[in-house]
Amino acid sequence: MIRNPAASTVDPMSRPSDRCPGVFSAHPAADGHLARIRLPGGLITPAQVLALVGVSDGFGDGHFELTSRGNVQVRGITDIDGAGELILDAGLIPSPSHERVRNLQLSALTGRRGGLLDARPILAEFDRRLQSDAALAKLPARILFGVDDGRGDILTQGPDIGVLAIDDQSFDVVVGGKPTGRQVAAADAPAVMIDLAHAFLADRNDEWRVQDLAGRAAIDGVLAGLPVTGEYSRSQAGSEPRVGWLAQDDKNLVALGSVVPHGRIPARVGEFLAAIERDIYLTPRKEILIVDLSEGMADTVLRVMAPMGLIFDENSPWTRITDCTGSPGCDKSHTDVRGDLDRHLGAVDVAIDDREHWVGCERGCGSPHEDHIRVEATPTGYTRRRL
Ligand code: SF4
Repeated sequence: MIRNPAASTVDPMSRPSDRCPGVFSAHPAADGHLARIRLPGGLITPAQVLALVGVSDGFGDGHFELTSRGNVQVRGITDIDGAGELILDAGLIPSPSHERVRNLQLSALTGRRGGLLDARPILAEFDRRLQSDAALAKLPARILFGVDDGRGDILTQGPDIGVLAIDDQSFDVVVGGKPTGRQVAAADAPAVMIDLAHAFLADRNDEWRVQDLAGRAAIDGVLAGLPVTGEYSRSQAGSEPRVGWLAQDDKNLVALGSVVPHGRIPARVGEFLAAIERDIYLTPRKEILIVDLSEGMADTVLRVMAPMGLIFDENSPWTRITDCTGSPGCDKSHTDVRGDLDRHLGAVDVAIDDREHWVGCERGCGSPHEDHIRVEATPTGYTRRRL
């Protein structure tokens, strides 16, 4: 396990008891260590993509994987010290003490396409406050914070604590995955989310999620100090496909949305992504959004990256199917999930109309929060059920 530079300042007794992996707590899997790197808002810079290429190529299994929270992970790590140094040097862990609690989601393409306001400054300010608040390093690593610009895509993810824009200046406060009907001005939203995080700690025994709390006295106390939200209507734009050519709202710029089979990006593809020299946003739906491209650049990216395996076709089954690692990477799996899924999709006349998630055992890792069909391996074959 690599040394955590914040270890001397964090009380070991305060460490969360869950086993969500990070970088300083890489998870030993059947195929080597797994390091998960939190990307607030799903944002990763070209230089950071290049660092991940170095980690996956030099120390991992040659890929980096997208997660259902818009983060990335590298599997098969043999030298976790070497990998950790690259990750730290790339600025991917600005606050080691808060590494695993920076689970921050942001509406995809906010400020660039759709939404009621640009939610990026709110998330950035919340992240700044979170990192500078020592007590909040004690939050459980499964907590999820979300800032939704009104399109509903982050609300769908069920954030423990968040805000949902109701117009261009204010939010409904979200707790336990649901709007509370309590209103906060955009400028005050980060502070209220911090107050709610402290309230969660006060209300918590050993629960990992706000949804699981036995009582919410402290949380209710924070909410009681906020005005009641009036009537508002929500946009349904959260369900729009984010794959293909996505015109941005101004400046004649374009975002390109894509997916990759099994949510795995080969290091070689990562090198080309970094060479585009544009920020990339990863979404909980495992979409890869390359933003701020001129039309000419977007055209070139399409021509170069599609043959390398990025899928820009919104009708591809890979826009609707995800899977877990399965064997041999996970020793709990009843089968080679990825291989089975490849064979399934390779069969003639397979129609994939629903959102599906394939898993190798009942644990259901990486399951989407939206309605979907779980295709689950058992010792006697796969079962299908709607969740
Ligand atoms: S769902 Fe089961 S088989 Fe798949 S990664 Fe999780 S534990 Fe392993």
